[in-house]
Amino acid sequence: TVPIYEAEFRAAKRKSFFDMSADELFEVIEEHGRQGVDYITVHVGVTLKNLEVYRNAARTTGIVSRGGGLMAAWMLHRGEENPLYARFDDLLDIARTYDMTLSLGDGLRPGSLADSTDRPQIAELLTIGELVERARRAGVQAMVEGPGHIPLSEVATNVQIQKKLTGHAPFYILGMLPVDTAAGFDHIAGAIGGALAGWMGADMLCYLTPAEHLGLPTPEHVKQGVIAFKIAAHAADVARGNPKALERNRKMSEARYRLDWEGQFALALYPEEARRLKEERGSRTKACSMCGPFCPMNLVEAVLRGKGRLELPVA
Ligand code: SF4
Repeated sequence: TVPIYEAEFRAAKRKSFFDMSADELFEVIEEHGRQGVDYITVHVGVTLKNLEVYRNAARTTGIVSRGGGLMAAWMLHRGEENPLYARFDDLLDIARTYDMTLSLGDGLRPGSLADSTDRPQIAELLTIGELVERARRAGVQAMVEGPGHIPLSEVATNVQIQKKLTGHAPFYILGMLPVDTAAGFDHIAGAIGGALAGWMGADMLCYLTPAEHLGLPTPEHVKQGVIAFKIAAHAADVARGNPKALERNRKMSEARYRLDWEGQFALALYPEEARRLKEERGSRTKACSMCGPFCPMNLVEAVLRGKGRLELPVA
């Protein structure tokens, strides 16, 4: 959960979201802990000092984190420090009491390629790195949220910097989005960045949907986003040499070469869709309708062996 959403909402209902008190925010956090929430996102790196770095940075897209933006607006309006930062020890006490993990949110993440890996992003990461250390000393688990809009050429750098500055804390990334221009298909763009970041060492991918930047997603958008990012995570597992992922891919290829369709469906990440397309696209042979009687896997094998696979019976 993101407790600041609820705390700000309660204050806005009463009067104005600027009216939220620090105690109110901590009460919501404690309520979430009592309810059994596993991890909360807290934008602790949005400090007055880092907001000064942000104000001097002349960004293209300003602040794009919803929770980070709420926190920054509250702080700038009231001229007060981020209570989550100022009272970080209180936050650690609650997290430890309820065995709640802290996800240290990147409120100053870049929202465009023009702002990628800039001073506000890195200033916030430096603060977060210090807070990860304090969390560990207090016996509280912490992971670190990361960008955001990052070109492919900077993905490895971002993962390495995060790992170095946070003592290899788990890195939970939002994308990464390698282009700004894929509106309507940001789940595909994000999966491309996510796969590369996963390969480089990112630990958890936050999916994007086709509706990203455009509106609230429908359940179908959510499904498409999760599909894209599951494939990205699987690609990262393969690249990192995960034995289970490698074995599954090897078996899939063997089934493919045998034209063993049931075997392929069983190993596919999305068997229902694979089966649906195979049946929908039809075939007059045992191979699929893409190459049909000229299925090269079958043809070359048949010529080499001089028998067996040349005749493709009607499926
Ligand atoms: S017909 Fe072509 S696409 Fe289909 S199984 Fe054979 S080689 Fe693959």
